[in-house]
Amino acid sequence: MASMQAMVLDAPRTPLVMCERPVPVPGVDEILVAVAACGVCRTDLHVVDGELEHPRLPIVPGHEIVGRVAATGVGVSGFAIGERVGVPWLGATCGTCPYCRGGAENLCDTPVFTGFTRDGGYATHTVADARFAFPLAGNADPAEQAPLLCAGLIGWRSYRMAGVGRALGLYGFGAAAHILAQVATWQGRRVYAFTRGGDKAAQDFARSLGAVWAGGAEETPPEPLDAAIIFAPVGALVPTALRAVKKGGRVVCGGIHMSDIPSFPYRILWEERQVVSVANLTRADAHEFLAIAPKAGLRIEVVRYSLSQANEALADLREGRLQGAAVLIP
Ligand SMILES: [Zn+2]
Ligand SMILES: [Zn+2]
Repeated sequence: MASMQAMVLDAPRTPLVMCERPVPVPGVDEILVAVAACGVCRTDLHVVDGELEHPRLPIVPGHEIVGRVAATGVGVSGFAIGERVGVPWLGATCGTCPYCRGGAENLCDTPVFTGFTRDGGYATHTVADARFAFPLAGNADPAEQAPLLCAGLIGWRSYRMAGVGRALGLYGFGAAAHILAQVATWQGRRVYAFTRGGDKAAQDFARSLGAVWAGGAEETPPEPLDAAIIFAPVGALVPTALRAVKKGGRVVCGGIHMSDIPSFPYRILWEERQVVSVANLTRADAHEFLAIAPKAGLRIEVVRYSLSQANEALADLREGRLQGAAVLIP
């Protein structure tokens, strides 16, 4: 029987372990994907570090998957063997709960999440629900496409939620912000990038991708912001960002997990400022963003690791040593 390799999390706060397994057979509505690249997302770090409730263990993390369809199960339509495919975080939804029926499948009551409640892409092969996977056009480097599948998609959903204001702050300049800064600049917005204080390399990086200003998170931007998106998992940035947005401005929390938000005076929320969060993605978000991304001329900065280096990649992300996005190449 053909075998595959996967990096497996057996228990939170333990290193992933390389495992040899039989190549899975796709079931009804499923495709087998030969993984070409899988991005390393901060959410993976939260899974590995035990900061999210109810992972399925053992689990193969990874939800920014680019690969080729290697086999199709019964009922699959729209995918041919050998076709390039992207697999995101939203692995499946029930289709019948009030959220699914109301156009908010990202909030489904019984969702399946890739690399969290079903095995993901830190592997040579993975199985995905074809109805939640996306054909990827073109011949771009799979490593440079992988970060679009979550950093790009969640960034895009956060961006849409931030509204149409022209002055946009991005707090935390990691994989998502480095993509979104380019999209926003391409759309004529002014991007203000906030990094850890003194992180000159990250600030230079942000300016090189179109940010009109870059500075430390505690600095006051040269103009009041229409909106801010927080990608760093740091709750203290919520009051910081509220102080930076103008009347009616919105602060969008783009991550799945954040440290506690400290108390803050009501006056920084008053005047119809809003704090909102973004959860997951819908397939409509993905179709919209994956159509826009190729037009925006994005320069995706990736740091490549072999599959067996997944623990190193996670450590580099945890310690803030990365510029751009970490990607595993099996
Ligand atoms: Zn549902
Ligand atoms: Zn993610």
